[in-house]
Amino acid sequence: MHIGFVGLGQMGAAIAANILKAGFDLTLWNRSADKAAPLVAAGATLADSPCALASGCDIVLSILADDRALDAVLDGEDGLLAGLRPGALHISMSTIAVATAEAVRDRHVARGQHFLSAPVFGRPDAAAAGKLSVVAAGDAADIDRAEPLLRAIGHKLFRVGDDPPAANLIKLCGNFMLMAAVEAMAEAMTLAEKGGAGGTTLLEVMTNTLFDALAYRNYGPMLAERRFHPAGFPAALGLKDMRLVGAAAEDSRVPMPLLSLLRDRLVETIAKEGEDIDWSGIGLTVAKNAGL
Ligand code: NAP
Repeated sequence: MHIGFVGLGQMGAAIAANILKAGFDLTLWNRSADKAAPLVAAGATLADSPCALASGCDIVLSILADDRALDAVLDGEDGLLAGLRPGALHISMSTIAVATAEAVRDRHVARGQHFLSAPVFGRPDAAAAGKLSVVAAGDAADIDRAEPLLRAIGHKLFRVGDDPPAANLIKLCGNFMLMAAVEAMAEAMTLAEKGGAGGTTLLEVMTNTLFDALAYRNYGPMLAERRFHPAGFPAALGLKDMRLVGAAAEDSRVPMPLLSLLRDRLVETIAKEGEDIDWSGIGLTVAKNAGL
């Protein structure tokens, strides 16, 4: 089985390395070709366009910044859609809009190509450790076909339905919950700190009692230590995700007042602290607003 991989950003480079380590034949494409050099040195092949890559592959994975980047890779005579053979499978791992996943699904189906959405939970360090959680939706036979590959990049695989956009909606809801948890933690830790009880003391009590969960255990220390650079997940990508949650919520007529607050918090943080801050940097805004 020949595998193609498109998008060698923070997540993609780490994921592609694990696919290679698992022994798959791997061909790569990235807009900035220089990022492929370490993987080519480790045995991967570099294609000169998404079309050229797709034409030789049974399965192509993509993980790109956003909807626009995915469209740029799919479109045109050099694009992935033009190259993928009928029956071959594209697995999109990017965090994109539900509506975009619907459109991409339809474009593949019209060409007799297969499509899965398989967005992931986990930051670049989890990707490097092969510990992503993969949320897959699409035809069950396609997920079966992809399972050995998805197991090479993640320690958990969830099957969430037979229509690809379902996975994108789960991913967006999950990121909303995560951002809300960071906001709640930041507010409570700021109060504990300013009131003299200590933010880290609060964190220790809560992560060993009611909030003994990865979200709090991973992000709590980042808030306590103000560890927001380098950004494993930049605030601008977080803002993109909150925008996509908003679009899905509008389409389904679901009021989400907390989402509006989180979106504003991200905009304020990026405006004041710059583009290169992690999305958990909203905690810095919370603390500064309290005079800390
Ligand atoms: P990243 O480091 O910014 O990488 C983005 C990738 O998209 C790069 O390969 C970039 O190519 C490519 N790209 C951007 N615009 C493009 C365009 N117009 N045409 C072609 N390629 C383009 O982002 P990342 O952190 O790897 O995230 C990738 C996806 O995974 C995003 O959807 C993100 O929301 C999601 N995600 C991220 C995390 C995280 O913690 N970082 C966790 C889970 C999911 P160049 O190298 O040429 O710039």
